[in-house]
Amino acid sequence: MNRGALIDRDGTINVDEGYVAKPDELEFKPGAAEAILSLNQRGYKVAVITNQGGVAYGYHTEADVERFHAEMSRQLASYGARVDRFYYCPHNIKGTIKPYNVECECRKPGDAMYRQAISDLDLDPALCIAVGDKPTDLLPAIALGVSSVLLVPREHIDDPTPEEKQFQRAETLGSALDQLLA
Ligand SMILES: [Mg+2]
Ligand SMILES: [Zn+2]
Repeated sequence: MNRGALIDRDGTINVDEGYVAKPDELEFKPGAAEAILSLNQRGYKVAVITNQGGVAYGYHTEADVERFHAEMSRQLASYGARVDRFYYCPHNIKGTIKPYNVECECRKPGDAMYRQAISDLDLDPALCIAVGDKPTDLLPAIALGVSSVLLVPREHIDDPTPEEKQFQRAETLGSALDQLLA
C-alpha cells in the first residue's frame, strides 16, 4: 500500500477567487508547487480532491474543470512535480443544471472522493495526510483516519475561530507538510 496526500484545490494549491475555472485563472499559492514536488520526492501519491459545484450552477462545464487540471499538471511539470490523480464533484443540490443538481456522496464533506482515491491509488489511510482550507475538506479525511491540517490566515494560527479550533492549523501547504511529515 502507498502513502498518499489528499489535497483540496482552490484556496489550498491555487489562489481561490471563487469558481476558478479558466486555465489562465490558475495562480499557484506561494510554495504550493514546491510542496507538491516534495510529496512526489517523498513517495506520496498526490490526489487533488475538489468540489466544483460551479458545474451544477452552469458557471462552467466538466470540460472546463478538466482543462484547468490539465493546465495545473502542465505548470507543475515545469517544477518537476505532478498530481497523480484529480477528483472533482460537479454536483450541487442547489444548482440548476441537470444532471448535476442532485444530492451526492462525493461533494465534501461527503467522503466518496476520498474513498475512491484510497482505492484507486492503493493508499493506506494511516499513512495518508490531508490538507484543505475548509473544515469540510478535513472532516471526511479525519473520519477515515487521515492526519489533517487546516489552512488558515496567519493570525488565526494562534487565535482560531471556534470552528477552526478543533483542527491542527498552518498558513500554507508547505508549512502544513512541515507539520504532517515531521
Ligand atoms: Mg478550498
Ligand atoms: Zn458529487
